[in-house]
Amino acid sequence: MLARLLALILLFVSSAGAQTLAIRAGNLIDPATGKVSRNQTILVKDGKITAVGAGVEIPKDAHVVDLSNAWVMPGLMDAHAHLTAGPAPGIPFPVTTPYLSESTALRALRGLHNARAVLEAGFTAVKDVGNDAEWAAVDVRRAIEKGWFPGPTLLTTGKIIAPFGGQSQNVPPEQGAFWKYEYLDADTPDQVRQAVRRNIYYGANAIKLVADHNAYFYSKEEVRAAIEEAHAAGMTVAVHVYGGQAALNVIQAGPDSVEHGFDLSDEQLRLMKEKGIFLVGTDFPEVHLKLMDFNPVVGGKTLGQRIVDRLRRAHQMGVKMAFGTDVFVELPDKSRAELMLDYLDVWTAAGVSPADILKAMTTNAAELFRWQGKRGAIAAGQAADIIATPANPLENIQALRQVQFVMKDGTIIKQGK
Ligand SMILES: [Zn+2]
Repeated sequence: MLARLLALILLFVSSAGAQTLAIRAGNLIDPATGKVSRNQTILVKDGKITAVGAGVEIPKDAHVVDLSNAWVMPGLMDAHAHLTAGPAPGIPFPVTTPYLSESTALRALRGLHNARAVLEAGFTAVKDVGNDAEWAAVDVRRAIEKGWFPGPTLLTTGKIIAPFGGQSQNVPPEQGAFWKYEYLDADTPDQVRQAVRRNIYYGANAIKLVADHNAYFYSKEEVRAAIEEAHAAGMTVAVHVYGGQAALNVIQAGPDSVEHGFDLSDEQLRLMKEKGIFLVGTDFPEVHLKLMDFNPVVGGKTLGQRIVDRLRRAHQMGVKMAFGTDVFVELPDKSRAELMLDYLDVWTAAGVSPADILKAMTTNAAELFRWQGKRGAIAAGQAADIIATPANPLENIQALRQVQFVMKDGTIIKQGK
């Protein structure tokens, strides 16, 4: 009996206590400071980083990964993704076709496909902000967490909470409220609370509101209700808003992040900075906007131009920013990850340094996700989410397009030359 018990215990230890992995990191980047340390050793065990330093001894039985010629850094994060959505380009938003022609199951399968693509490109954490039919992204998250499929660590917001109509407009009443496939109508503070609770019930671990898609928009009190309810449950709130009075209401309510904010004034950005609200600018490249047939001109400037301007202003003012893309279309010749990395061009065009871009993709995103001390840095005790590139991204941020090594929670996902 005792022998059998011992055998069971040993079996448990050998599967849970996996072999130590040692990474020889030639150039280790700390995105929080922008500093590079040479010839470091990173030890990884049970999915976590156990030691980092120049004098760290490599245990005899360790599996050694040689990245001595590479640039090593924490995994990238995208704070605004729609992994399960994928209409063809050119279909104007609101997108009616997927609502009517794609099942939740198909959406989840697309989500898994995209999750794998973005992980292999170096994104070890992604916040999925809805448009996932009947909570498809929640099931994608669960399947990844069970280890059935490779994918980044996911935050999923479930159905988007919005004033009546979601992100649709002018749907004839006889067609019915088909937007409810992806949105929860909520038009009072109480309804907003109810919608937050429904999302949490169905598995959301973050909350997303769309404040201003129609002529009517959320009041400060309505946004506040979502924040109180979500924060009480330990979740963050992201609010889609473009500008004007709607943005002021949102900023005054004080969510964790403002999404898009394409038309935020300097005054509004200043208020965000004061309150410590993150801007997740989803800074669309002009080429993407053209492909989507969505590049409205306001004040003589295309949306693409206004985005670069707003990003430059926010950066110069020191507003906290996390990298977020909002890619939701599918292009035949580009992966979801390649489309996400196209946004690097916009950040560069706005005068943001490579070090600050990398920080927005790691340190800042981890802060927004409330993961400080857990993910987003290469330090003892953190999850082993580690990537490497052959060239220095602090010199040219485009180096992130050539991620050669990806480790997620201590598991090697990709190891190239
Ligand atoms: Zn979005």
